[in-house]
Amino acid sequence: MIEDKNQQRTSLSALGEFGLIGHLTRDIETSLPSTLKGIGDDGAVLDFKDKKVVVSTDLLIEGVHFDLAYMPLKHLGYKAVVVNVSDICAMNATPTQITVSIAVSNRFPVEALDELYDGIKHAAKVYGVDIVGGDTTSSQKGMILSITAIGEAEAEDITYRAGATSTDLLIVTGDVGAAYMGLQVLEREKQVFQVNPNNQPDLDPYNYLIERQLKPEARKDIKAILKALELQPTSMIDVSDGLSSEIIHLCKNSGLGASLYEEKIPVDPQLINVCEEFNIDITTVALNGGEDYELLFTIKQADYDKIKGNPNFTVIGHMTEESAGINLVTRANTQIPLKARGWNALSEGE
Ligand SMILES: [Mg+2]
Repeated sequence: MIEDKNQQRTSLSALGEFGLIGHLTRDIETSLPSTLKGIGDDGAVLDFKDKKVVVSTDLLIEGVHFDLAYMPLKHLGYKAVVVNVSDICAMNATPTQITVSIAVSNRFPVEALDELYDGIKHAAKVYGVDIVGGDTTSSQKGMILSITAIGEAEAEDITYRAGATSTDLLIVTGDVGAAYMGLQVLEREKQVFQVNPNNQPDLDPYNYLIERQLKPEARKDIKAILKALELQPTSMIDVSDGLSSEIIHLCKNSGLGASLYEEKIPVDPQLINVCEEFNIDITTVALNGGEDYELLFTIKQADYDKIKGNPNFTVIGHMTEESAGINLVTRANTQIPLKARGWNALSEGE
């Protein structure tokens, strides 16, 4: 499907490695004062003055983390940047630079990598980060993409997974579960397409879910919102593997338990409709879906008034003593221990 869209096919060998790097990075400029030297030397040079530096890296493998049958390369590039930027945001830091490393086999023409880079460059612009380096090499099979993100923060702003206390409130931004159901819709359409390539699916009823899967956004805005509210979270993590497993991370790192209220978990109305259509339990998806890239954090109870009624935030529960365990309080008011299943485990049963 990818190759068909390209009218022109220039083989990678026509450019060679250095030619390819030069081609892909030809119009990349840097704009941040912390970037002293970007692409073009043996290393980038960065200057963060008296700020702390936060670094995070991520590896994406074709067939494991993405499927090019329904993931356009431009979206893949964008998403690869977003997932890394999200980790910097989860430290309550500001993303500033990224490096991009790619390994590809000869089945990808130069034009395909241009599309991938278009997505990467677009995301860099949206999130205000400089592309300062990377590597390009060949792979025997498939595509491998690795992005490293760098960010800056004042020491006192940095928020860790550890740091919550037993009376803190548990808060999530946005809504959860949509990206997972977007993937389910795309998987279904892929199977329909394989049976009948002429079938034109109507994806309108699923637009929000598909966008959350193919073009997620990192919550770079949250740091400034919290700052304006004079609110310092006590612990924080981003929702990449699923709400359930992220809550468990905060609890384990802070040495606490938690109570999560099923009725409080924020979900989009489209998710509710599509879960009904697929006959899947909404709470299971919201807890284990993952790839939402929202932020999950804790605040002191005394700070509750600062976020009350704020549409960015939903209080979904509270921390407890470790001995109380990590529990979901259902709508029927029964307690079920939370398990970290993750979205891989979720799809195994199908
Ligand atoms: Mg993370």
